[in-house]
Amino acid sequence: MASAKANKKAAAVAIDLPECPVCMETMSAPIYQCQSGHSLCNSCTQNLLPPMCPICRQNLTQMRNWQLEEIVSKAKVSCPNKSSGCVYTMVSMDLEEHLKECIFREMECPLGVVFGKCSWTGRLKEIMDHFKERHGSFCNVTTDEEVEITNVDIKNDDRHFFLVAQSKLLFILTMKIDTLQKMAYWTIQHIGSKKVHKTIFTKYILRASRTQEGKLCS
Ligand SMILES: [Zn+2]
Ligand SMILES: [Zn+2]
Ligand SMILES: [Zn+2]
Ligand SMILES: [Zn+2]
Repeated sequence: MASAKANKKAAAVAIDLPECPVCMETMSAPIYQCQSGHSLCNSCTQNLLPPMCPICRQNLTQMRNWQLEEIVSKAKVSCPNKSSGCVYTMVSMDLEEHLKECIFREMECPLGVVFGKCSWTGRLKEIMDHFKERHGSFCNVTTDEEVEITNVDIKNDDRHFFLVAQSKLLFILTMKIDTLQKMAYWTIQHIGSKKVHKTIFTKYILRASRTQEGKLCS
């Protein structure tokens, strides 16, 4: 029993997951076997032509390697962004979810989505520099201070973006002026991980210095 316990402990340590011998990608379920027992990933099993194991030339089968699948699904893996500073380790089946919101991931410029002309990609910690450099007029680098937006002409449809850094959190503040609806819309978007997002409570106070014909809507 003692050895079984020791094995369990060892399994919790981050390991390098087995790779598919054909495409060298990390294995994940479903894992199939050839007639003599070599394990291949799903995409190689489905796409190899002729459907033969490249190692032993035996036929591929639809036989799953359940044990390997289980080991792979329970193994703890380090985040692939480890070299950039992510210390996160997780069960491999949670990896995909984590990668979507890892703050060390390569991400696209959030303004690129809006304007479609920014091709920058980089990491969250570099985004402030990028904004200053390329989108300087939108960039408001205040820390725990009020964001002041001046000279807004509310007679024309327009959109204004601001990157606001407050207590190490990054937000994109968008203001949209819609003259047809006579409305100004505000949105605040937190850039970062969902995990952090759940723990923050932020209070926004909107103040217009002069009441003009547009309505404010928050
Ligand atoms: Zn493969
Ligand atoms: Zn084989
Ligand atoms: Zn990560
Ligand atoms: Zn950009």
